[in-house]
Amino acid sequence: MDENIRPKSVIVIFGATGDLAKRKLFPSIYNLYKKGKLSENFAVVGLARRPWTDEILRENVEQSIKDAKSTDEDKNLADFVSHFYYRSFDVTNDASYDDLNRLIIDLEGEYQTEGNRLFYLAMAPNFFGLIAKKLKEYGLKETSGWTRLIIEKPFGVNLETAKELNNEIRQAFDENQIYRIDHYLGKEMVQNIEVIRFANGIFEHLWNNQFISNIQITASELLGVEERARYYDESGAARDMLQNHILQMVALLLMEPPINLTTDEIRSEKIKVLRALRKIGPEKVDNYFVRGQYDSGEINGEAVPSYREEDEALAESSTETYVAGKLTIDNYRWAGVPIYVRTGKRLAEKTVNITVQFKDLPMNLYYKSDNERHPNLLSINIQPDAGITLVINANKSGAGSLAEPIELSYNQNEVPGINTPEAYEKLLYDCTIGDATNFTHWDEVALSWEFVDPILEAWSNSKPNFPNYKSGSMGPKEADELLEKDGFHWWDL
Ligand code: NAP
Repeated sequence: MDENIRPKSVIVIFGATGDLAKRKLFPSIYNLYKKGKLSENFAVVGLARRPWTDEILRENVEQSIKDAKSTDEDKNLADFVSHFYYRSFDVTNDASYDDLNRLIIDLEGEYQTEGNRLFYLAMAPNFFGLIAKKLKEYGLKETSGWTRLIIEKPFGVNLETAKELNNEIRQAFDENQIYRIDHYLGKEMVQNIEVIRFANGIFEHLWNNQFISNIQITASELLGVEERARYYDESGAARDMLQNHILQMVALLLMEPPINLTTDEIRSEKIKVLRALRKIGPEKVDNYFVRGQYDSGEINGEAVPSYREEDEALAESSTETYVAGKLTIDNYRWAGVPIYVRTGKRLAEKTVNITVQFKDLPMNLYYKSDNERHPNLLSINIQPDAGITLVINANKSGAGSLAEPIELSYNQNEVPGINTPEAYEKLLYDCTIGDATNFTHWDEVALSWEFVDPILEAWSNSKPNFPNYKSGSMGPKEADELLEKDGFHWWDL
């Protein structure tokens, strides 16, 4: 894909007064503009019910950019915000869509955007199907340029609801016009997984069950549910993190090398991994998965309440704020290699990390004893520090003739001049140039739900003994036992 394309487009944001627009979308569009990745030929239409005006939206956009950059000085800002327009709009009211079409046609004339229209649905998912339908019904897709639809997560709450939503959207938009956001796919180091694997013989030649003993993925948060308690309680960790972000990372880590770097080829390899992911029937879920909910505890020296104390509506909640699991991929390359995953809130640290543990040598004369093995590890750090660490054994000075693990590290945040773009910035740009590689295809969504549904089903049929982990810990002890049974432990790099 040509990185120098400067797209022309009208961007319509449904939910422009909301949190996502303020914290992520406005600053990302601004960064693209500043970096010259968006031409002057663009306009943004913000929609929501609030009786805002163009001026109020512009003030809000300006403020959100200042908040994101924590600086007030920018001569470009006034020019930039002049491209923003607001309409008070209820998505359930048909009359609104005609007005919107007229406004877009006017803006297309004024900004010469060649009929390209990007619709961003930054709203509650129950409106996604309705909006897509109305956009088609009221002729908003009839244009001389392209039309694309960006959809936020969650995409359904199980396979059935995801199918319903998909059917609704597909009646209005083709699969190649639908961009389902998984913002993890916009993260620099998640995109780097493919490069690390397929541009390095030292890893790719060893990337299989002959040389890798297990793979671990950790996505841990310090924060609890904060003000999103009621929303989160409907979702839980398996829906919020496992079904989408974690399974996407699994697919990227385990897929076969694509024959080229096109969207279709990469997606097709990822889909094959998800097809090879062994489904776990509800009766076996307890052997492979652990759920948890945080109790009170301490984070950074401060006392924090339990999940059930966060909001009175959660007082008896059985929603999981933690999930750990062992995944198995039934294909030639990965048979026998456990993939351990864990994610949770109010844990001891905020990190997203992938650790690949290589098999030990059959005999290592440099180990003190059999109990003290230091396997080679490749750790891909996604956040907060984007980087890679390779753990190898060497003879540190003063350590006699024995091997000691040493870490070879590259930390992207420490390289001067590198300013890692926000995931949303990358994804918005990809959408404007028509590159869907880092968005989720429907088949990936469906296969992920097929895997997660039986786990949720098993959990819904039994009452957990919650809370079962202290805030500030790394989760329930059963999650450690899951690996101990196989002779492994979680790495913390
Ligand atoms: P939010 O703050 O609640 O914003 C919802 C927006 O929808 C508001 O602008 C609201 O404005 C508008 N709205 C509600 N009902 C409407 C109607 N009938 N007609 C027109 N506009 C209406 O939600 P959010 O946090 O921005 O999240 C938006 C989407 O992004 C959700 O799907 C969420 O799951 C997803 N998401 C958000 C985040 C995040 O960090 N916030 C992260 C990942 C995914 P009015 O009240 O003025 O109408």
